[in-house]
Amino acid sequence: MVIRIAFDLEMIPLADGLWCLRRPSYVTCSYVVETSAGVTFIDAGMTGSGRDVLEALRHIGRRPEDVEAVLLTHWHNDHSAGAYLLQSRYQIPIYGHDRERPSLARGTDRRGPRDRVRALLPDWGLFVLAKGLLGETTPWPIALDHSVTDGELVAGRFEVIETPGHTPGHLAFFDRETKTLFAGDALAVIDGRVRRMARHVTPDHGRAHTSMVKLCDQPMAHLCPGHRTPLMTGVSAAMTAFRAELGRDRWPLLG
Ligand SMILES: [Zn+2]
Ligand SMILES: [Zn+2]
Repeated sequence: MVIRIAFDLEMIPLADGLWCLRRPSYVTCSYVVETSAGVTFIDAGMTGSGRDVLEALRHIGRRPEDVEAVLLTHWHNDHSAGAYLLQSRYQIPIYGHDRERPSLARGTDRRGPRDRVRALLPDWGLFVLAKGLLGETTPWPIALDHSVTDGELVAGRFEVIETPGHTPGHLAFFDRETKTLFAGDALAVIDGRVRRMARHVTPDHGRAHTSMVKLCDQPMAHLCPGHRTPLMTGVSAAMTAFRAELGRDRWPLLG
């Protein structure tokens, strides 16, 4: 079930206390997890104004002050932009990998020609692709409050899994309580099948391959990727098929 909560924003209730927050244009997924301690975001929507995360919180009847942590899979704008508002206005702690720090802290040079063109383009159709090619940094700089590494537990239940390849410090998070893997852009789910990300958005194929094999070993029941649609059932069979596919040496152009 997909609920349209704004003209350009969707929420998909996945399980008790778990929602996917999605932009239909980019089909980028951030996730909202309601825990006993409050609300945790895995990625934070793609608007620097924080509108995505604020709309999501309003939809589930929670306030920004209820957010206890934002876990960033990687620095790309479509996954991290909303962290700026939660950090700067509400002092919510931001978690991510140290290697993402320079890119997160860079922000966008809004006076630069690339970003001025980018700002003029609408968020739909082929313009989305053009925008992605023009720049991927967050509009305002984000400073990580906590840099985390493999095996650490965040907010009492989210295990950090280092999965470099798509970006140098890409992370996945495994929710030990619900056995849900939040994979970010380390892999893709397309039409119920687990796939590699497209070649051109994966700068380091060797590391990305190792990261995907590592994710195959997670004892997951649910798989929440950074784009398109989460896989809530049949994950074990889908991962077995994916592992076999990874054994083949050719990386398909579109993943
Ligand atoms: Zn990305
Ligand atoms: Zn992405």
